[in-house]
Amino acid sequence: MSFRATVLTLYPEMFPGHLGLSLAGRALAVGAWSLETVQIRDFAQDKHRSVDDTPAGGGAGMVMRADVLARAIDSAAPEDDPRPRLLMSPRGAPLTQARVRALASGPGAVIVCGRFEGVDQRVIEARSLEEVSIGDYILSGGEPAALVLLDAVVRLLPGVMGNESSGTEESFENGLLEHPHYTRPQLFEGREIPAVLTSGNHKKIAEWRRAEAERLTRERRPDLWARYEKAGEAE
Ligand code: SAH
Repeated sequence: MSFRATVLTLYPEMFPGHLGLSLAGRALAVGAWSLETVQIRDFAQDKHRSVDDTPAGGGAGMVMRADVLARAIDSAAPEDDPRPRLLMSPRGAPLTQARVRALASGPGAVIVCGRFEGVDQRVIEARSLEEVSIGDYILSGGEPAALVLLDAVVRLLPGVMGNESSGTEESFENGLLEHPHYTRPQLFEGREIPAVLTSGNHKKIAEWRRAEAERLTRERRPDLWARYEKAGEAE
């Protein structure tokens, strides 16, 4: 069974978006993964079809109603649906390549996209939604976050990427940022390709790449570097 994504949103027109193009789009077309959208508004029951209301306790903005969202979730994913239920949320656990890999090896995901100030806390608890953040900044809605998450997952699905090995040598896969890349021309505005890369000595090239990856990680991501060093000590 291929990876099955169901996205709950007030803006289904945003999907598949860029995931309908390039490698992800081809994979979608041949059934390597599937994408279904659910319009949350279809589960509103009042005559205005409202999905949000003013926040309890007062304050700015609107909050997505628990009852409407719960009905949408229940229709998209019955209780025995094995897929994890994610809520895109700046308060969630930051998305990592490890989480992406775990999702890619599972049956799919049910993804709830928030809007306004967010969603009523009770539906998060009652439907066991796992909050996932794509970074420490605020988007106007969960849709771009869902597209980011699915982009990262889909490229790992079997047969999606042309060159399988490029998936495992990338930034974060081994706890390091990736080394710099070069290609022709040999000379660009006076800058040469590092000589080792054109030496044909594969051992030296691997050593250079590892050293550059370590240098970049140390300089740019002290948090990753500390974890990497600790993992090395543990071995
Ligand atoms: N008031 C909230 C932000 C709401 S933004 C707060 O301060 O925490 C509206 C919606 O956009 C959220 O419900 C969520 O679904 C989505 N969103 C915004 N930023 C996000 C991020 N960094 N990662 C994932 N989803 C995000």
